[in-house]
Amino acid sequence: MNAAQAGAALAFVLTLLPAAAQNVKITPIGSHPGELCANDRATIFEDPTGVRILYDAGQTVTGADDPRLGTVHAVLLSHAHGDHIGDMKLKAVGAGSCGNSERVPAGPNSTTAEIAAAKNAAIVMQGDMGSFIGRKVQNITGKPVNPCPQTDGATTVPVAAACRSATYLGGTFIAKSASATKGVEITIVYASHSNNAPLSLLSEAHRALLAPDDISIVLGPPTGYVVKFTNGLVAYLSGDTGVHSEMQTVVKDLHHANLAVLNFGSSAMDASAAAYAMNELVRPASVILTHVNEAASKDGKLLPASRTASAIKLLRAKPHLALSERTMEFDGKGMCVAGC
Ligand SMILES: [Zn+2]
Ligand SMILES: [Zn+2]
Repeated sequence: MNAAQAGAALAFVLTLLPAAAQNVKITPIGSHPGELCANDRATIFEDPTGVRILYDAGQTVTGADDPRLGTVHAVLLSHAHGDHIGDMKLKAVGAGSCGNSERVPAGPNSTTAEIAAAKNAAIVMQGDMGSFIGRKVQNITGKPVNPCPQTDGATTVPVAAACRSATYLGGTFIAKSASATKGVEITIVYASHSNNAPLSLLSEAHRALLAPDDISIVLGPPTGYVVKFTNGLVAYLSGDTGVHSEMQTVVKDLHHANLAVLNFGSSAMDASAAAYAMNELVRPASVILTHVNEAASKDGKLLPASRTASAIKLLRAKPHLALSERTMEFDGKGMCVAGC
């Protein structure tokens, strides 16, 4: 075989091996590199077509200029609680302890709005939250935030300016890269939780009115997401939630989720409830545990006495810790094929 023939043979073999590029990359962005820490929520998803999604910016990014974010085409927010919308931001990567990272105020706009503004991202969330975040983006950029432009039902990303999805519970937003034939389908699903905004993010007038009663406004229902990637991966992002029956009827039966990113917060779910939700209702191939509200790892290894460990013992699906800055790659069947 001469060099030209060898080159042709190699090119032919490469056409038979597209799988390596067909994984979804999932990278948690937490407070301490390589660990799963108490305040960690933010997660970046990268579709094989290049669409990059930030889910729940939260309090463990250092701001819109956090270099760990990279390109962000769409910003998702499950609900407006401070640990998700980001009323605080991380002082520096690694600041404070894994059990209690050191954070500084991110008012009056929130990390979610700062990032959406800086990245010119599509704001993909339940409508009331989209309006709230959209107004904050307008406060930063000085430009109104309009509904995202669509062609054949999809929005081509990157968008020219920050825009918002016109989606409510059950609605689907499709983010498609210009060169791709298929887009990433992002559907808003139910969560059993609450959705009041932090007082520190409200206008002065609102805050003065509400503060004496220690209550805040509710920005519509809290949510989760089902995200269908172009390689077949269907990720259920639970948001903060207790167990609810739509995990079976909507998430499993309608959408066939094969990966769950589970918020395992102690205020909504204990180990047996998490196991029931995953083993009996959603039944994914794999579960990524996040939002664990404890230091769940040391040197990247699960702490055996942790609450997280007690849940993992009960899970039938393959469990993975959302270790900060460690990229996991998932195939279309919901299995981790690299980085786990
Ligand atoms: Zn919450
Ligand atoms: Zn939370």
